[in-house]
Amino acid sequence: MHQHRVIIIGAGLGGLTLAHGLRARGFDVAVYERDPHPDHRPQGYRVQLDEPGLAGLESCLPEHLFRLGLATAASPPARVSVRDRHLGVLGDRPTAPSPDPSGSTDRPHRSYAFNRPTLRQILLFGLESTVRYGAELLSWERRQDGTVAARFTDGRSANADLLVGADGVGSAVRALLLPQARVEDAGLRLIYGRIPLHPRAARAGEAGRAAEADGSADVLPPWVFDSIFTVVTGGPGSPHVGFGPVRFDRPPGEAGPAHSPAVPLAPVGDYIACMVGAPADHPDVPPFPELRGLGGPALRELAGRLMGDDWHPDVHRLLAHWDPSSLFPLRVSTARPVPPWEAGPVTLLGDAIHAMSPVLAMGANTAIRDAAELTRTLAVAADSRTPLVDAVRAYEIRMTEYAFPIVAASQRTGRQRIGQK
Ligand SMILES: Cc1cc2nc3c(=O)[nH]c(=O)nc-3n(C[C@H](O)[C@H](O)[C@H](O)COP(=O)(O)OP(=O)(O)OC[C@H]3O[C@@H](n4cnc5c(N)ncnc54)[C@H](O)[C@@H]3O)c2cc1C
Repeated sequence: MHQHRVIIIGAGLGGLTLAHGLRARGFDVAVYERDPHPDHRPQGYRVQLDEPGLAGLESCLPEHLFRLGLATAASPPARVSVRDRHLGVLGDRPTAPSPDPSGSTDRPHRSYAFNRPTLRQILLFGLESTVRYGAELLSWERRQDGTVAARFTDGRSANADLLVGADGVGSAVRALLLPQARVEDAGLRLIYGRIPLHPRAARAGEAGRAAEADGSADVLPPWVFDSIFTVVTGGPGSPHVGFGPVRFDRPPGEAGPAHSPAVPLAPVGDYIACMVGAPADHPDVPPFPELRGLGGPALRELAGRLMGDDWHPDVHRLLAHWDPSSLFPLRVSTARPVPPWEAGPVTLLGDAIHAMSPVLAMGANTAIRDAAELTRTLAVAADSRTPLVDAVRAYEIRMTEYAFPIVAASQRTGRQRIGQK
């Protein structure tokens, strides 16, 4: 029987999940990643996965890796809170932004805070010979026999029955497939980093203490641990700050060896992921190329200035514990809906087609859901020996139906809460 060859461009959360799903169903898979190695650049800290992402991981990963993922994730209260700058509660709701894609209504809603580097280490396990690093896609073209040929900047080339662009917001695959697709600057800049937590406090489950490098400890406000994510907002058009606590039941460095000794996981302690955001046209925010050039201390100083003296002292106290070496700036983008296009041997998933503001924490959830949807439709086509292009068409119709409304909801919420365009 013909083994279908699939090339995946990009080893992000979506591409790696797809690689697992398709390999398990007998496809010949190769992932091409631009970065020279997995730790080449900061990939972020916390990633919150709810039902769409969890169900996607569960259906694509080998069971032991899915279980390991849950064992190494934190499970803070599954609530999202919004407060004003004086910490008055503006909103507090359970994390249930979208229905369970399995259609089940009685399963309890699950939300986990994963340490993103740990999740990536788990996703990379078993794909050592599948992921090729230092391979930046230059171009692809359809061949007369219906297959697709990819070329990489280092001169490599590869052919496949299907090429999947999982190459993120600046997707080179999308640029050639859908030149009409638009990705807009959402007019929002973020400074993202970690507040390390004192191990003793995290283990005891008490309100939490942070230790500065000099060893002095300071009690952190308990409200920051009450929700999986808390946004403190200055109001529309003003800066905001978000806090996502990651307190492990058992740290990955311990849970990993106990659960799956073969999977190498780097040790990581408890922390709070913290991001300060401001509109790009805020007078204190420099143009993005300049922002990108700022070091950690300068970014922390800028964040403190953005918050201003009239913000609650708890906010400043938390920011004082930010680890300057963990800070990096980000520009938020949002995709415009793309009208239906003709299906072929090239498709897209994740941020490559539906980049969105992080305000609803749905980008990775949706990328992983895409990977599961595409795996499912392709596996059905392979089993029934129907053309892969029919499966691609079915996937694209479904994916655009669920993903673009989430992009729109993220944009609406981003406008209300965090001053995006
Ligand atoms: C601050 C912040 C917090 C977030 N928090 C959450 C959250 O809690 N929950 C959630 O669901 N979402 C969250 N998101 C969104 C989430 O990070 C993204 O939606 C998700 O990472 C998209 O995954 P992806 O696999 O589509 O793309 P990416 O993770 O961007 O991966 C793309 C990969 O493709 C590679 N690549 C790019 N170009 C090429 C090329 N030409 N050739 C080869 N390789 C290439 C890149 O190097 C990269 O490895 C957050 C985003 C931000 C900015």
